[in-house]
Amino acid sequence: MLYVACEGESTEPDYLRYLNEQFGDGDDGRRPFRIQPVYRKNGMTPAKVVEAVREAAAEDEAWALFDRDSHHEIPQAVKAAAEYGIEFAFSHPSFDLWLLLHFQTLTGAQSGSSKIVVEKLRQATDAFKDYDKRGDKSVKGARRDALKGREGRAVANARSLVASCAAGRCRPDHARTEPVERDAEPRSSQEWAARSGHAQECPILRRDPSTDVWRLLVALGIHEDES
Ligand SMILES: [Zn+2]
Repeated sequence: MLYVACEGESTEPDYLRYLNEQFGDGDDGRRPFRIQPVYRKNGMTPAKVVEAVREAAAEDEAWALFDRDSHHEIPQAVKAAAEYGIEFAFSHPSFDLWLLLHFQTLTGAQSGSSKIVVEKLRQATDAFKDYDKRGDKSVKGARRDALKGREGRAVANARSLVASCAAGRCRPDHARTEPVERDAEPRSSQEWAARSGHAQECPILRRDPSTDVWRLLVALGIHEDES
């Protein structure tokens, strides 16, 4: 059992339920897991996401998912996550990038705007053609089916984004996915944010575009670490 808190009230919780249903029972060689999604109606800010999962998980494994979007409190969220041993998966510009990477990669800085990501996702497959229209950011039914079997590709694409990060010394094979001791000594924000494979000196807000969600899949054993 692990707790995963997220900003959104629809896309991420739907996706986490999909992971439970698709992979949660385990398989030959893969351990079973159960994600408890933590979210709020009308969403949460990054700092609130970390706080909410800290409360919900107590001593259990805890992850926080948050996006660049237009948030200003990301450094505080990272600091709190580092202090309490909460893993985080940051997406720049947004979680939608993780969905897009199941179909194609993305190059060039997005400057915090998810507009191009969403447009490309709509074009990538019929199932997502109405994504984020009339507020529908759900990941159910045909959208869920469209993601199935593509997780390896998404992981590979996300790792490539680390390798091509403009900071230059970022390497996906430096990423860490082993379980963390919740009660270990607090780490620095830089050290904690480098679990993504980005270099410690790579400022988190400059990781554009990138998403760390792939580390969650590797940590759960859904996808094998290639490093
Ligand atoms: Zn980097």
